[in-house]
Amino acid sequence: MHPFESHIRNVPDFPKAGIMFKDITPLLQERFPEVIEAMSQGIDWSKVDYVVGIESRGFILGAAMAQLKGKGFIPMRKKGKLPPPVIAETYALEYGTDTLEMIKEEKPGRVVLVDDVLATGGTLKAAAALCEKNKLHVEGMALLINLTFLNKFKEEGKPVHSVLNY
Ligand code: IMP
Repeated sequence: MHPFESHIRNVPDFPKAGIMFKDITPLLQERFPEVIEAMSQGIDWSKVDYVVGIESRGFILGAAMAQLKGKGFIPMRKKGKLPPPVIAETYALEYGTDTLEMIKEEKPGRVVLVDDVLATGGTLKAAAALCEKNKLHVEGMALLINLTFLNKFKEEGKPVHSVLNY
């Protein structure tokens, strides 16, 4: 068992019935520097200009990774939080849709996308598409947890780096 695993709390039926939610807050409280170290490995940082963090736990992790590696940070937010000009990507949820936005880029760049948990992959797929639409080439994706049984990212050969895999 990975030493981080004992700090992850499994919460049944949150936020909805039938979902087993992985709560990473105890892990961040007890092992934050090691978590940021571990998430920053396996990425060729010489090819990266910025870290893009997905709201909201991706902000915590992504900003710390950017600081560790001396890179700038770009927030990717839920609809309506960023001032114009923004560029958006809408994606399907089980019921309805969701929209991610980022400030429109003036010039191209290369980024690492950061979030806490990869579940079905809908969020990360939309986030990657949004970056590419916004002239930001995705060099890699870093997650703390990959729920591999819910997505096909590894099989599809996507450059995903995750610390804990279930
Ligand atoms: P996906 O789009 O189904 O891959 O869900 C990923 C998004 O939902 C991420 O932004 C996560 O923060 C959040 N998420 C999904 N499952 C969990 C979980 O078990 N714990 C914490 N966040 C989760």
